[in-house]
Amino acid sequence: MSEAHDGMTPFEAVNWFFQRAADRVGLDDQTRAVLAGSYREIRVQIALRRDDGRVQTVYGYRVQHNGARGPYKGGVRYHPDADIDEVRALASLMTWKTALVELPFGGAKGGVQVDPKQLSLPELERLTRRYMSQVSYVVGVNRDIMAPDVNTNAQTMAWMMDAYGQRAGHTPAIVTGKPVELGGSLGREAATGRGVVMVTNDMVTAAGQAPDSLTMAIQGFGNVGSWTARLAAADGYKVVAVSDVNGGIHSPHGLNIPDLLQHVRDAGSVAGYPGCEPISNEQLLELDVDVLVPAALGGVITSDNAARVRARWLVEAANHPVTPAADGILAASGVTVVPDILANAGGVTVSYFEWTQNIQQFAWDEDRVNLELGKIMAKACRQVRDRAQADGTSLREAAFCIAVERVAQAAHLRGYV
Ligand code: NAD
Repeated sequence: MSEAHDGMTPFEAVNWFFQRAADRVGLDDQTRAVLAGSYREIRVQIALRRDDGRVQTVYGYRVQHNGARGPYKGGVRYHPDADIDEVRALASLMTWKTALVELPFGGAKGGVQVDPKQLSLPELERLTRRYMSQVSYVVGVNRDIMAPDVNTNAQTMAWMMDAYGQRAGHTPAIVTGKPVELGGSLGREAATGRGVVMVTNDMVTAAGQAPDSLTMAIQGFGNVGSWTARLAAADGYKVVAVSDVNGGIHSPHGLNIPDLLQHVRDAGSVAGYPGCEPISNEQLLELDVDVLVPAALGGVITSDNAARVRARWLVEAANHPVTPAADGILAASGVTVVPDILANAGGVTVSYFEWTQNIQQFAWDEDRVNLELGKIMAKACRQVRDRAQADGTSLREAAFCIAVERVAQAAHLRGYV
């Protein structure tokens, strides 16, 4: 296997973790070759009519990585860096994540390579409808189900559902993370952050620590970061720093998260929140805290800064925030990394609940959603911890080994490989 280095593309990085698990579980070469690539990748051209009448050409992708265990499932991100390699990496992570938490789904991801901050709301709606109608040939309730990710939200899902419905009839189960008014699940918006906090609680408790004795820093204050902050603070963690694309804030005494949320609603950013030291995103990652939660983009911890991470736990709320080269450095310096495919699996888990509720046309109350989420996250944490202990590996390696075995077994049982 090749040496890990920071020059790896996102897909090379995810596959590096996959290959290491495949070695450990003794995966045969043919199955390995199938799982190292994706089943289907499409690129669509979107001629976006801007408000001033110009037509801007942008490209969107949908990658279906592996469907051995069920319909493809994965979010859609709008970002200038959401190229085919990034989307492929995120699709592959979804395959491993859904297998790890035992959801009956395969892995997929979508992306539109655009900066949504430059677009008006009507432009975003036109972009979303075009993207959905152009990928609609390969999605379906039993084929591929979309969800929100970076720079997409419940409103995006509502437009997607509507665009799909114009061809197929009313089909709420085609997307998850919808507004509750349109069949979205109670608890879905908070679910990824709630899962992050559940997993963090599980890991720190297993190490004999209590949440209310621990400090936390969170990079990213969008859906995942802000819900993580809110729920972690409610559980007693002292959230001392948060950041977003505009910068970060630090208060050693702990931030008042409900008040900060109001500031973000008014000002559009955490930056400028009174009574705090401003800090950069880079500085936040190196703070002397107990728990560090990257909840923004991938590749933020590399071999350049890994040795300066001082947290005891690094909980990957974002997808692939740690490069393979950094992963080794963190392990050597005793940082416990809770891998993305476990840490942020709460979102897809409640997406699964949403899909089942839509199919059954029966809505659950929020307590039931959170209770069932808790059961799934607790079981996955236990399995990953037990496997890591039995094999003497990191939590990431254990999580990948469990997931790779499950996907390989499903592929074999189907006769696919
Ligand atoms: P979001 O768009 O709601 O929020 C992203 C946040 O990151 C924003 O606060 C933004 O300002 C910040 N950010 C963007 N670029 C940054 C930069 N260069 N430096 C620092 N901060 C930056 O997205 P989200 O849904 O919260 O997703 C965040 C991460 O969690 C992503 O990696 C995503 O793949 C992952 N994730 C999301 C979900 C979900 O349910 N939304 C589920 C699993 C994993």
